[in-house]
Amino acid sequence: MRQPAIEVRNLSISYFGTSAVTDVSFRAAPGTMTAIVGPNGAGKSTLLKGILKLIEPDAGEVTIFGRPVGAVRKQIAYVPQRGDVDWNFPINALDTALLGTYPRLGVFRRPGKHERAIARDCLNKVGMSDHALQQIGTLSGGQQQRVFLARALAQQADIILLDEPFVGVDATSERLIVQILHELRDAGATILVVHHDLVTATDYYDHALLLNRRLLAHGPVGEVLTPDRLAEAYQSITAHAL
Ligand code: ADP
Ligand code: MG
Repeated sequence: MRQPAIEVRNLSISYFGTSAVTDVSFRAAPGTMTAIVGPNGAGKSTLLKGILKLIEPDAGEVTIFGRPVGAVRKQIAYVPQRGDVDWNFPINALDTALLGTYPRLGVFRRPGKHERAIARDCLNKVGMSDHALQQIGTLSGGQQQRVFLARALAQQADIILLDEPFVGVDATSERLIVQILHELRDAGATILVVHHDLVTATDYYDHALLLNRRLLAHGPVGEVLTPDRLAEAYQSITAHAL
């Protein structure tokens, strides 16, 4: 691989002394879309937060295009899992999309006409123009994820991390989101998605990363999400829990 877009080296993260992610290393090339698959509690969300440096790791290193995360933060868009979002926050769909433009503004610049036009355009791309002024908590699950995707689009990020974006989402929204993600990937974006549906995973992604605290497999999706490997990943959590 030439310069990887994302490189994770020996990443270990724990919460109050309990290990959540142990010694994970992988690289993702530009223009690829990777599923992160594993049972509940496998450390999938923790891995994304570790890549974003939202959590300080115990050990290991993450570089984006060869640089530390802190230096390229504005190039990384993040859509957290539903449970991590405060849906009562008093913000409408348009202003949520507008947030995507903030990282590229200087510290002292407020978003203006230009940024508002970008936010509107991104809402339009995800089919949410008619709901621009609606508070995000009042939207359906699929509409909410579209708005978060609009925010990611507005950021024009090279790296996009999404945590279970299809949970609680209607089939039409899911198709639209996948289509947009594929377009972004084909335009060169590097996308990591925590994905729970094993049936659709092989259709949606080119690569997969099978995680159960440790990285069990990483590579082309068809080689990673095999019945044997999945059984190993999903059984060992039971073994841990006993
Ligand atoms: P996944 O996203 O694969 O379901 P998580 O990354 O959310 O898994 O969690 C991995 C492990 O870390 C789980 O055992 C979970 O209970 C624990 N964990 C996650 N977040 C926290 C937290 N903020 N404080 C303490 N433990 C946590
Ligand atoms: Mg999670």
